[in-house]
Amino acid sequence: MIRIDNVSRLFHSRDGGIVHALAEVDLEIRDHEFVSIVGPSGCGKSTLLRLVSGLLPPSSGSIAIDGRTVDGPREETGFVFQSPTLLPWATIEENLLFPLRMLRRPVTPAAQRTARELLALVGLTGFERRMPSELSGGMQQRAAICRALMHDPGILLMDEPFGALDALTREEMSLELLRLCAERPKTILFVTHSIAEAVLLSDRVVVMSPRPGRIQEIIDVPLERPRSFAMEGHHEFQDCAQRIRALIFGSRDRDELARAG
Ligand code: ADP
Ligand code: MG
Repeated sequence: MIRIDNVSRLFHSRDGGIVHALAEVDLEIRDHEFVSIVGPSGCGKSTLLRLVSGLLPPSSGSIAIDGRTVDGPREETGFVFQSPTLLPWATIEENLLFPLRMLRRPVTPAAQRTARELLALVGLTGFERRMPSELSGGMQQRAAICRALMHDPGILLMDEPFGALDALTREEMSLELLRLCAERPKTILFVTHSIAEAVLLSDRVVVMSPRPGRIQEIIDVPLERPRSFAMEGHHEFQDCAQRIRALIFGSRDRDELARAG
């Protein structure tokens, strides 16, 4: 469904140099697949997501969704950023309805009902008329996820969506995301720096290496669904996590050992 074909992306840095953010990335993501991207900071994870969203064009190569080349933002794609990015001057419900207003769509009773249903799904019933500043960080992020789901996009791009949350809220949000996916199946591309989170949520985990950002390896997660935290004790879970860790830190450990030796 999402086809990333030999994609590279360069940036001009402020000192006049060129940054190879991504080089020759090939990846195919199937319908309703949950794919996570992990890798060291600066390896091009956010860039890859922005390319898929159509917010940024590739320098070379192409990206297609259902066979149509991505050349700008599309309605079938929802985006969730690391920080909740809610409008501070609008209520939670108005924040959810805002994308419709941007698209100049009528705010119908059905849309209002969808907003309330989504908020109920993430435990925010009763907060519709509150302002973002009256909600905790975790609640704001849940509202931001609802906003991305308002037009029921088939594809959800999530860039470290739980990165700013404390560990407990983060685990709670992972479970909520799994529940949402079970209720409304979606294709999800999910960037995280938590290896455990990637394994728990994903069908496949893409491990990237930096400078230039490339796909180092893709790990299949053989755990069945529905997933639960109890699975973190399964040897399949630990094998996956161990392999990912070795891919990310393995080369660095070797380099350090070589230097020390
Ligand atoms: P990640 O999300 O994996 O941390 P990014 O995709 O944000 O990495 O960035 C990859 C590389 O591209 C980094 O070296 C970053 O500095 C560079 N980069 C990203 N966006 C821009 C930009 N708009 N202008 C210049 N360099 C950029
Ligand atoms: Mg990033």
